[in-house]
Amino acid sequence: MPSRKTTPIDKFLSEDDAKETPKPSKNGIDPLLEKIQELVKVFANESGHSYRAQIGRYRASSVPYCNRKIAFEMLLGVEELEELEEDTRLVGTAMTGQIIHDFLEKALEPILISSEEEVEVNLGEFVISGHYDLLVKDVDGNKIVIDVKTCSDASKVQAKEAHVRQLSVYQAALGGIDGALLYVERNNFQMKMFRFPFDKEIFSQVVVKMTELHSRITRTWEYFEKKQREGMPQLIGLTLDQVLEAVKLDLVPPREPEFEYECRNAWSRCRFYDICYSSNSRYGR
Ligand code: SF4
Repeated sequence: MPSRKTTPIDKFLSEDDAKETPKPSKNGIDPLLEKIQELVKVFANESGHSYRAQIGRYRASSVPYCNRKIAFEMLLGVEELEELEEDTRLVGTAMTGQIIHDFLEKALEPILISSEEEVEVNLGEFVISGHYDLLVKDVDGNKIVIDVKTCSDASKVQAKEAHVRQLSVYQAALGGIDGALLYVERNNFQMKMFRFPFDKEIFSQVVVKMTELHSRITRTWEYFEKKQREGMPQLIGLTLDQVLEAVKLDLVPPREPEFEYECRNAWSRCRFYDICYSSNSRYGR
């Protein structure tokens, strides 16, 4: 039988076969996938809003939640926080939110006034600041501030109390205008919206809570007389041991989560869980 003539495709395939297949890394993951995951993580961290946390300046997105958690996050230094870090999946959740937000910003251009602008409420002793998602004109020409949230099932979603509180800060900062929470289903972009006229009562509750937090953080700061470290602008820079001391001295806020799911839920737990609940002598309560 006459031998078949070698074609350019045979040559191409044999050259391709000869290429070395990348070896999986130690943990069995394709090194390319590992690289992609690393790049996504870096990009996600860099593309978020950078906040310069400091005594007297608090983020609107965290005000609805546990005061102790906010205090711990502000007081600890970078290394200490990294040591306590548990759930990096939150980065992915934030990125999905950002992608949906970017899409909406383009789609809503005809009614969009502005987006992602930083606003603040100055309460004298301290400031609450944050970036609202969208400021649009409704069908009657009224301004309305919209906070976009992602969800897994828009047909079942209800407005979360925490989200209403966060929205109230943006509403107050924009002079008490109407607001809305827009829930977008991650898989298919189904949406549900809840409108809220500015509610002074809800905003007052936020102010009372943040006043208590501010006073606790100030007391802790004064106790340790700690100067903000150069190169660590986002955190105050106490050590974990100092924070544990502050817990024992009752300087930091008590263990009072605003919502039951904050300490622990089906898929994650607060990174400070061991400090609050462990009988481990290192952490205590
Ligand atoms: S474990 Fe619970 S009480 Fe402790 S900081 Fe976290 S949310 Fe707050």
